[in-house]
Amino acid sequence: MQGCAIRCPGCCNPHLFHHRPNRVVPVADLVREVEAARAREPRLEGVSLLGGEPFEQDAALAAFAREVKARGLTVMVYTGHLLEDLQARGSPLLAVTDLLVDGQYVAAERTTKRRFIGSTNQRLFFLTDAYSEDDPRFAAPNHAEIRMNAQGEVQVVGFPFDRFLDAFGPGHGSA
Ligand code: SF4
Repeated sequence: MQGCAIRCPGCCNPHLFHHRPNRVVPVADLVREVEAARAREPRLEGVSLLGGEPFEQDAALAAFAREVKARGLTVMVYTGHLLEDLQARGSPLLAVTDLLVDGQYVAAERTTKRRFIGSTNQRLFFLTDAYSEDDPRFAAPNHAEIRMNAQGEVQVVGFPFDRFLDAFGPGHGSA
């Protein structure tokens, strides 16, 4: 998602801080992209929403997440806000989230030991029974998937490790 007012020092996505249109996609089109992805990869489990700050687009992403779940897929959201604050404001997106990683990225507390977690203050919540805390996938250390296309463009999905960051630019965060 484009736009994050929190702006944690060391965030690995500073290019997503600004609140300017990036790629504006209607919810229906995004749902069609998910359906096409599942047609290509039937093992697709769900979608992950991250930032930028997903809860700055709360209503639209809630509508998207409802469509995702209606298709039997799961929804994981990364946020710099705390679960308690999202509950207090009655977030519609939170109501349809299965997995939530909350909390700002704190560079001094960076960790690579917990999957999906960037710094030790962040928490992983199982908000529905879609996943179990006993699932061994949640006990694995962090990792990143790196893709390069025919044009030489590199896309990093997941948690970039130190050597990669040193080679490709500053910033050491994720949320
Ligand atoms: S780590 Fe997350 S909450 Fe913090 S600035 Fe980056 S996108 Fe925003």
